[in-house]
Amino acid sequence: MRAKNRPPIRGGKEEARERPLQEKRFDSPLAPPHGGRMETAVIKDIVTDDALLSQPCERATAEDAPIAQDLVDTLLSRDDAACLAANQIGAAKCLFAYLDENDQPHVVYNPTLKKALRPSKAVEACLSREGEAKVTRFDWITVTFEELEDGALVPRKQVFEGWTAQLVQHMIDHCKGKLV
Ligand SMILES: [Zn+2]
Repeated sequence: MRAKNRPPIRGGKEEARERPLQEKRFDSPLAPPHGGRMETAVIKDIVTDDALLSQPCERATAEDAPIAQDLVDTLLSRDDAACLAANQIGAAKCLFAYLDENDQPHVVYNPTLKKALRPSKAVEACLSREGEAKVTRFDWITVTFEELEDGALVPRKQVFEGWTAQLVQHMIDHCKGKLV
């Protein structure tokens, strides 16, 4: 989803935009060190083909970690992005990356929306599409998902609110092959 729709919380993206792109790209905490040097970031093109994006994604596994890395690298390389799903970079697996309110990247595997409260209207711009779309999103959600830890997926449960909840709902839709 495009970051420009983000409400102005503590400067957020505006501050991020001031930083040089290189710095953002290479401070990825997920980049594996190889002999003490950082891996070169892989920046993927964003898929815009509706036919590809409309296919529900397969369950992601720990073997999809390289996709997660490409997602984070691609997300951090763009000033206009707040989150990115794997099928938007050509991998039809159920995982996505998003930036939290401090612009830190997180990777979410196999999310399921469990509870949703406080529906409200929102306008979203998808990186894969032109223009904007009106949607109904919930302001408070509980999501179960998995995270990669020491090479294995471990179950998590988390409450998301506000802007981050909106991002996560947009991403869960992508995993289902649903576009705004
Ligand atoms: Zn999107």
